[in-house]
Amino acid sequence: MSLPTSLIVQKFGGTSVADSEKILAAARKAIRAQQQGHQVVMVVSAMGKNTDLLIGLAGEITDRPSAREMDMLLSTGEQVSVALMAMAIQSLGHQAVSLTGAQIGIKTDSIHTKARIKSISTERMQRLLDAGNIVIAAGFQGIDEDFNITTLGRGGSDTTAVALAAVLGATACEIYTDVDGVYTTDPRVLPEARRVDRISYEEMLELASLGAGVMHNRSIEFAKKFSVPIHVRSSLSDAPGSVIGTQVESDAQSVSGAALLKKEARITLMGVPDVPGTSLEFFSRIATRNVSVDMIVQNVGEEGKADISFTIPSDELDVTMEAVGAAREIVPVDDVTHDQHTSKVSVVGLAMARQTGVAERMFRALADADVNIQMITTSEIKISVLVDQDAAQQALRAVHKVFELEKPPEVLAAGNQPVEAAGPTNPADVVDRLRGVDMEQLTIDDVLLDASQGRITIGRVPDSPGMAAKVFEEVAAAGIFVDMIVQSYTGHPDGARLSFTVPRKTLDESVDVVRRLAASFNCGSVSSSPSIAKLSVSGVGLRSHTGVAIRMFRALAEANINVQMINTSEVRVNVVVDGEQGELALAKLQAAFADVLR
Ligand code: ADP
Ligand code: ASP
Ligand code: MG
Repeated sequence: MSLPTSLIVQKFGGTSVADSEKILAAARKAIRAQQQGHQVVMVVSAMGKNTDLLIGLAGEITDRPSAREMDMLLSTGEQVSVALMAMAIQSLGHQAVSLTGAQIGIKTDSIHTKARIKSISTERMQRLLDAGNIVIAAGFQGIDEDFNITTLGRGGSDTTAVALAAVLGATACEIYTDVDGVYTTDPRVLPEARRVDRISYEEMLELASLGAGVMHNRSIEFAKKFSVPIHVRSSLSDAPGSVIGTQVESDAQSVSGAALLKKEARITLMGVPDVPGTSLEFFSRIATRNVSVDMIVQNVGEEGKADISFTIPSDELDVTMEAVGAAREIVPVDDVTHDQHTSKVSVVGLAMARQTGVAERMFRALADADVNIQMITTSEIKISVLVDQDAAQQALRAVHKVFELEKPPEVLAAGNQPVEAAGPTNPADVVDRLRGVDMEQLTIDDVLLDASQGRITIGRVPDSPGMAAKVFEEVAAAGIFVDMIVQSYTGHPDGARLSFTVPRKTLDESVDVVRRLAASFNCGSVSSSPSIAKLSVSGVGLRSHTGVAIRMFRALAEANINVQMINTSEVRVNVVVDGEQGELALAKLQAAFADVLR
């Protein structure tokens, strides 16, 4: 008998193993795949809402359970499922062996409840597979150097699945869940959302970290880094599902998806001394508490003082405020305000980088829906706005509609293969890349300097719906391409501060347009600078690695370089500094990331 040549990983989420019938149905899917000639590794989550129940139990004992004991507790959920799944397969007359993360040898760091995978040994799994077993791996868990059980963060079973697919050189990683694929936005929030046939890694990475809970964002970091094709499909039907890979669905669409992060908290540091190193004091203290800071909006200062706003998951507000308090002892700021009732709405699309007018369409749709924009931040492939939580769903619906996401694209991207034919991983290639590296280690592809742009800042923009729309409509009407946009929340009753960058040759024209508008809408003064330098650090998973922005701030602060604007995405962090300091900043950043530059 010839050995099977292909291996697939099938992951079943909580609802897909919620009761014994569903477990048996999942078992049959795995057996079918084995009978088709594949070796099969299953990754399973805790049954139904078990993880939530366990978290609730801990909460009945204490408000602040230790993270180590949380991991000990939560890992039991998956242990129950793997055992039952193995029994199910055996009862159907096939061989199966269940393994915990520790038994597989999934080594992680020691950041309990948010651990990162360092390495995975394949030897035991391969031996069991070669002996004809279906291997059933507990999702979401691993073990640190001292044999403590760790977990990877909520939704982390996806990451286990993609990581196993990477190390085993699987031809595919199938994610079976309670929806039949990836949608243009969460179909439970907007029923008009549309299933997409395919979506690129970059887009899914952004969407996942911006709120599309269908995939754990770190699983997509793995998939991109190790070229694992992912196939998201329903555990209840044989519908075709969606492929996450290197291709986009359509070249013609500027936006491919929208996402909502409902529970965000905003923190604003008011009157921060506008000198190098101040942000560092705050963000480094937040990073040591392992909170990922999300939208960081730092705007050009006025009278020697700047305001910095950022968002964090609202359940991490307390720990973040502690860090802010500690930093305030070193850096005096005028005031700190926070709002725990905000939501972030984002649109994502790879094609956005080449098109004008995307931002203004989004802002117009929000204005027409009477939604006030509190903060704006953009990157090459996404635009995010912060809005009041009560306006969040309305805002999501408005942007979904304006980009016609409910309609299938008229033109598909050239060279799109049928969904079934997603290219396999090349195992040799992956094994090569895995040699001697931490699997989830930060990798930086590039540090770049763009000295071709100028900046415009509007001092005070009235805090009412429609202002951003008007500004960017006028700028777009003049045919000017806008790159970075940053609108900060100032907390001042007289409005927000709005900065953006444009190609230097269009700066004068842009300033004219903006001055005219500012005068008619009673905005504050308009300032501009023809000499700015935009520095970009690009790689994978830059936001989930809390230290990236810190490293940048530190390197620049040490060289006495002040940061004027900043924006972040999963694949890039951009900062704007004075044009004269561009070359120096580039050299400092290259040195700061030398150890992780590929
Ligand atoms: P599982 O337990 O299988 O991991 P999850 O609940 O983690 O399932 O993920 C599936 C859910 O993700 C869906 O039920 C859906 O409500 C939600 N979701 C959020 N954004 C999207 C999206 N863009 N496409 C599809 N589902 C989404
Ligand atoms: N059971 C874990 C959770 O609910 C992991 C997962 O399902 O992916 O977050
Ligand atoms: Mg999930």
